[in-house]
Amino acid sequence: MADNCIFCKIACGEIPSNKVYEDDEVLAFHDIHPVAPVHFMLIPKLHLASLMETEDSHAGLLGKMLLLAPRLAKQQGLEKGFRTVINTGKGGGQEVFHLHIHVMGGGHIPPMVRRD
Ligand code: 5GP
Ligand code: ZN
Repeated sequence: MADNCIFCKIACGEIPSNKVYEDDEVLAFHDIHPVAPVHFMLIPKLHLASLMETEDSHAGLLGKMLLLAPRLAKQQGLEKGFRTVINTGKGGGQEVFHLHIHVMGGGHIPPMVRRD
C-alpha cells in the first residue's frame, strides 16, 4: 500500500466505496463523480501508479482486468457496450495515481475525438 494513495485506502476498506466487484487482486467501484449513468472503475489492489509503471510480471493482472471489464459492464446493464478509459500520467490527464480503468456507459457516449 502506498502512503496517501486514495485508491489503496479504498482497496483496503479504509475509505468506503460503492463496490461493483471484489476479489483478492482487484476491486471495482462506482466513480464518486460519474460522467455517465454507469461509471465505475476497476483497479488492481496492488499499488501501480499508472500503466507506465507496469512490467511484464503484471501481464496476468492486466489481462484479468481487461477480461473483467465487459463482464462487470454487462452486470451493470451495459449490454449494448461501454467506453473504457485509462488516463496515464500527467500528460494523459491522470488525477489519481493508482492505475484504474474507467468503464462508462448507459447514456449518449459521444465520439472520443471531435473532428470539426
Ligand atoms: P483519473 O482522472 O485519475 O483518470 O480519474 C480519477 C477518478 O477518480 C475521477 O473520475 C474521480 O471522480 C474519481 N475519484 C476520486 N476520488 C474518489 C473517491 O474518493 N471515491 C471514488 N469512488 N472515486 C473517486
Ligand atoms: Zn495506490
